[in-house]
Amino acid sequence: MSDETPVKQPSGDIREESPKVNLLDFDADGLKAWCAEIGEKPFRARQLTRWIHRHLADNFEDMTDLAKTFRAKLIRMAEVRSPQPIHEKKSADGTRKWLFDVGSGNAVESVFIPEDDRGTLCISSQAGCAMGCLFCSTGKQGFNRNLTTSEIVGQLWWAERELRRDRGITDPNDRVISNVVLMGMGEPLQNLENVIRALKIFLDDDGYGLSRRRVTVSTSGLVRQMDKLAEAAPVALAVSLHAATDELRDKLMPVNRKHPLADLMAACRRYLRVAPRDFITFEYVMLGGINDSLREADELVKLVRREEVPCKFNLIPFNPFPQSDLEKPDRERVLAFCRRLNEAGYVTTIRKTRGDDIDAACGQLAGEVRDRTRRAERLIQQKAEAAVILQKSGAKRGN
Ligand code: SF4
Repeated sequence: MSDETPVKQPSGDIREESPKVNLLDFDADGLKAWCAEIGEKPFRARQLTRWIHRHLADNFEDMTDLAKTFRAKLIRMAEVRSPQPIHEKKSADGTRKWLFDVGSGNAVESVFIPEDDRGTLCISSQAGCAMGCLFCSTGKQGFNRNLTTSEIVGQLWWAERELRRDRGITDPNDRVISNVVLMGMGEPLQNLENVIRALKIFLDDDGYGLSRRRVTVSTSGLVRQMDKLAEAAPVALAVSLHAATDELRDKLMPVNRKHPLADLMAACRRYLRVAPRDFITFEYVMLGGINDSLREADELVKLVRREEVPCKFNLIPFNPFPQSDLEKPDRERVLAFCRRLNEAGYVTTIRKTRGDDIDAACGQLAGEVRDRTRRAERLIQQKAEAAVILQKSGAKRGN
């Protein structure tokens, strides 16, 4: 059972540019610089950050410890504006999904997953994605544009505010969302500048105060950007691996043709020098008949041993979506695969399917994208490729 709340229709128009400065676009340094520009002292930036990201306030009149003259300036020149939800869905298991309007007919998704000891928000970083992974519903939609910092941060700001309001929480230190993962729509490292600024706000003690271990960026394997992330905001890293050989990964993930596995593993080793955890999480979407045999499990073990990358595996049984032409793996094969990796000494989990009744499970995070890259046209080509892989792999089923 799910509960769906339509909020409004997506705006088909070009986004209206507001003449006001959106303060959700600034990290601490940016806010300090802006305050200096308008003739205010640097400590004002800290006060503002607390009001915006701790109290989740958007009305400057409520910011009572700010001088009246400063508040008047803020009302005239600035705003706190997050993307607005078009739809909200509530799953019977407590999962919540919001579809946010980001203008020009584009929408992105965020999903909140409550667990006993944590509340995780999965957010998007781009409207669409240009990486073209064969198994991904976002990739199928094409790419429109990078989200701004305020659109990335605004997903957390809005969701936390909504969840607190629902639970009657008034203490600003009583947070509902304890973990943030950038695993929604888009390849975060293709929007590095805005993502890094957003991460700094998430980690800022005056902002959301999340520890680096509780913020995870997921990448398909953009190695140069991984180095830059390590330098600027080394949060936990999840790498979408999905295959243990270049031959198969080339077919599933076009990024591998540019950055093959050896380069990716070397980038993981470099990242680990500064990472908040001493392992990389490898995400592995299990595609029925393609990469779910024990032979592939053994190849995975060989790969990470040879490359000496301490890691954990997270297995994600594929969720078919319209036009995917790929198959869900058999439960038995998933369990056997997981056992094999565990026996080899690698902590391996199978992702729990949450929010199934609202399409919030992995691989189903999508939205609405106006494709500017003609990716949708290339879908026909991809479908043909998927059919070939399936045919070739047909013989492997049952091993
Ligand atoms: S899996 Fe990630 S990187 Fe690949 S197409 Fe989907 S959103 Fe993009």
